[in-house]
Formats: sequence, structure tokens, C-alpha cells
Amino acid sequence: MDKKRILITGAAGFIGSHLCDRYIKEGYHVIGMDNMITGNIVNIEHLFPLETFEFYHHDVSKFVHVPGNLDYILHFASPASPIDYLKMPIQTLKVGSLGTHNLLGLAKAKNARILIASTSEVYGDPLEHPQTESYWGNVNPIGPRGVYDEAKRFQEAITMAYHTYHGLETRIVRIFNTYGPRMRVEDGRVLPAFFSQAIRGEGLTIFGDGSQTRSFCYVDDLVEGIYRLMLSDYAFPVNLGNPAEITIRQFADEILALVNNPKAFIDFRPLPVDDPKQRQPDITKAKAILGWEPKFDRKTGLELTYEYFKKVVII
Ligand code: UDP
Repeated sequence: MDKKRILITGAAGFIGSHLCDRYIKEGYHVIGMDNMITGNIVNIEHLFPLETFEFYHHDVSKFVHVPGNLDYILHFASPASPIDYLKMPIQTLKVGSLGTHNLLGLAKAKNARILIASTSEVYGDPLEHPQTESYWGNVNPIGPRGVYDEAKRFQEAITMAYHTYHGLETRIVRIFNTYGPRMRVEDGRVLPAFFSQAIRGEGLTIFGDGSQTRSFCYVDDLVEGIYRLMLSDYAFPVNLGNPAEITIRQFADEILALVNNPKAFIDFRPLPVDDPKQRQPDITKAKAILGWEPKFDRKTGLELTYEYFKKVVII
């Protein structure tokens, strides 16, 4: 029997590369695509010898051509950390808007099902807590995070439009803070920052007083949820994340305790503009529709992630 063929954009990135591994393991033929502005080829180099893996170095904001048939598309290309999208605001807007449009067009031409990576950032600095999919969000369109948030909100809108007007099979996942091996050491997000600072014996840079909250999901749990969502018949957005909420101050203490480097310390810094004060996914929908909930608690997930950072952080 012919293998199912799936295109994964952002294939060399943190979540994209884990998705490539999962779909290879499930017996798919995987076509990875990445323009490498935030991707790392090391994340997927173990796949290059496989006959079931191909890679295209391409920017999906430009016309996307893939020879042969396609059954599925996963659109995960985008700068995704606040520092990255502050450095690359235009690329961030383009990949979420023009890139998504190109991939929807490709999905239509190939009669493929497409799942797009949306984000808890569509909720902005949320006034509803925890966040359910029916909440419309509190986003500043012209603030520094607006380039990411609004690109993702547009992405959801155009994806629903293709679903409604062209009958395209679409899926939308709203991803909450996710962590695990292959996060970029210097991407500026809180977990890589804290791990590398703790390992190097530097100050853990807590922005603000550290009372803001996040809820962190281990990457294997997220990948399982995405895999199930793709196979489901549900076209509206679904939150995926781990509801275990923690303050950034507590998170720093957990990483300090795990790394146990006597030289590391806490270093308070100013809070960035429009930094959401709290964030926690309501995953009632994912539980009901996908039979999914996270399996990795933070202790286990952080230990697995620490093993990775020990190898890649240069002291
Ligand atoms: N943060 C921090 N120190 C850092 C990096 C981030 O205190 O070195 C805070 C940041 O202000 C935010 C939270 O940690 O409140 C999560 O930030 P991240 O960049 O990981 O992702 P976000 O959830 O804001 O998109």
C-alpha cells in the first residue's frame, strides 16, 4: 500500500522536528520544509538517510510547489518566541498570512487536509481565565507582540474561510507554552533562558516581579494531541496545553533546584510591553473530542529537558 504523504512546514524547528519524527514513526512519507531563519538542521539530520523523508529549503511566504500527491499538510513555520518576532516582524506577519494562504491553496489543489498551528497568543493578555476556545481575546494589534498575534488571528480567519467557502478539510490547534528537547538555547523564551543561565551559573532573568503565570506542556504530549486532532473530524480551534499553572518566579526556583548550581541566582529585569499576566488552557474540548490530556508532569518533563540542555549549552 502506498504511504500517506505529509508536508510539514517549519520542519527544522522545535515542534516541527518532533512532528517529523512522529509521522515517520507512524509510517508516513514526510516532506519537510523550512527556510532556516529560526530552524536548526541538527534537529532533523538523523532523518536525511531515510527514504521516507525529503527536505525542501524554502520560504512558504513565496509560492509553494510540491511534486506528487499530498494527503496532509501541517503548517508550523513561523518565528515563535517574542525575541524572534521582535527581530523579524515582517517575516512573522508574512508567514502567518501569505504563507498560510499559499499552503491553503496547495491543500486545495492537492485535495489534502491541512492543520495550522495557532497559539494561545490569539487570547492576548486574557481577561478570561482559564481560556476557553470561545473567548475572543484581548490583543493589542499595534503592540510589539501584535505582529505574531494578529498574523495568527488572520491565519485562523483565512483557514475557516477556506473551510467554509471551499469545503477544505482544515484543523486549527491553539498551542499553549510548550517545552522540551530541541528548543533553541538563545531563542529568548523563559525555559531556554533559565536553563542556560542556571547551567552557566549566571542570573536567571525574571521579567517583572515574576508573578505572571504560564502553563507548560511537554512536547510529546503536544505532538500526541496534534496527531489526534489531524485524524479527528473537528474543524474549529482546539486548545492544546497543560493546565498546570505556575508563576515565573516558582518556575525559576524549580529550575534552580534541578540544576543545583550554587553560582546561579535570581536577577529581576523590567517586564516587556504587553506581556500577558496569566495564561492557562481550558482543555475540556480536547478531552471530549480527542480523548486527550497531558501525561507528563512538570517534574518529569523538566528532567528530560535538562538532559538536552546539559548537552547543548556551552559554558
Ligand atoms: N520571561 C522571564 N525571563 C526570561 C524570559 C521570559 O521572566 O528570560 C517571562 C516573560 O516575561 C513571560 C514568561 O516568562 O512572562 C514566558 O515568556 P516566553 O518568552 O517563554 O513566552 P510567552 O509565554 O510570553 O510567549
